[in-house]
Amino acid sequence: MKALRADLLDFTAAPAWGATADAAVRWRPDHWLLVADDGRIAGVQAEDPGDGVERHCHRGRLLLPGFIDTHVHSPQVGVMASYGTELLDWLNTYTFPAESAWADAAVAAAGTAHFLDALLAHGTTAAVVFPTVHKVSAEALFQQASTRGMRIIGGKVLMDRHAPPALLDTVAQAERDCIDLIQRWHGQGRNSYAVTVRFAPTSTPAQLAMAGELCRADSSLYMQTHVAENRDEVRWVAELFPQARSYLGVYETAGLLHPRSVLAHGIWLDDNDRSALHAAGAQVAFCPSSNLFLGSGLFDWPAAVRSGFNVSMASDVGGGTSLSMQRTLADAYKVQALAGQRLTAWSALHSATRGAAQALGLEGEIGSLEPGLMADLCLWDKSLTPIDTHRQAMARDLHEQLFAWLLLSDERHLASTWVAGQEKYKRRTSP
Ligand SMILES: [Zn+2]
Repeated sequence: MKALRADLLDFTAAPAWGATADAAVRWRPDHWLLVADDGRIAGVQAEDPGDGVERHCHRGRLLLPGFIDTHVHSPQVGVMASYGTELLDWLNTYTFPAESAWADAAVAAAGTAHFLDALLAHGTTAAVVFPTVHKVSAEALFQQASTRGMRIIGGKVLMDRHAPPALLDTVAQAERDCIDLIQRWHGQGRNSYAVTVRFAPTSTPAQLAMAGELCRADSSLYMQTHVAENRDEVRWVAELFPQARSYLGVYETAGLLHPRSVLAHGIWLDDNDRSALHAAGAQVAFCPSSNLFLGSGLFDWPAAVRSGFNVSMASDVGGGTSLSMQRTLADAYKVQALAGQRLTAWSALHSATRGAAQALGLEGEIGSLEPGLMADLCLWDKSLTPIDTHRQAMARDLHEQLFAWLLLSDERHLASTWVAGQEKYKRRTSP
């Protein structure tokens, strides 16, 4: 048995939109989180558990459930912060060349190790990941996530048109690769397979139909893709699929909308699309940093709340400019502010922890500090610099304190990251 002493924050339900005080917020200052030898949370208590337990005292630090990033690209760490383009040019100019290099298994392995270690160094213990079209990139993802014990959902990217030849598969080869990867990795350790359609323009209708068949054959599979990110992209999809009711309708027709579907962006949706997402039980991964950086548009979160579909939080690196969930959530606040809306620290943090876990059907494994769940944890300094120390001292209540922390902190505030009860990242330099 181990025990961590810190200020514990998690959620027992979804906080109400706009409520800075909410009963769903569970704040347990100066408590001990007990971790059993099997890597699961054993309990929470105010009393010191005593000498018989391996005690880690982080008094004054903030302990959260490990962050969940529901949309991120493992091969794109090196294309972050690429100048001067919108989505379609950005793909052709920066992203496709970078992804082509991952045909080489050694390149994919080294890049994946770098990527997963970077997630841990940002407090992220679970992620829904796009590798590349190459089977070896998905192999590397599952293999290296297993080594680290991380909770990963991913799959070989499907794309059989409108990309450089080095990034194209065929329907038949892609199907064989998916079936083989599903058999060997889906449900192995903490890995789950996601049927991974890059986006409608890079798959033929035949490939989309094949992807839908895979989903129909096994309802435990996830599906991930992009939808309605950019206006030129939406126009292009309308040209390519003239019969479709909308961009989302292309996926709906192919059988790709279901409770385990994760659709990135969802900026240019209409009310019919929102109703379809709700009816399917699907979720949108909101990627504010990417949406601002690529000039894609402003996601309407309140409309999603009204429609009742799930929204989780995602960095979308390399369209996003940071793997930090605090920076991502700070951008989410600013996107909502431009629309006259206010995102509370509670709704923000919930969307990157328990909310994402629930939307993924993983609330029995991750997302809160509940006994029985995996001890996936991130431990933070509340302040490091004279500026944020001063700001914390000025905070008048809990929401103000946590909101200021969220907006002013980043990965430098991370003291350590735990995966299944093991410390997998520890800051080397003292603050
Ligand atoms: Zn993306």
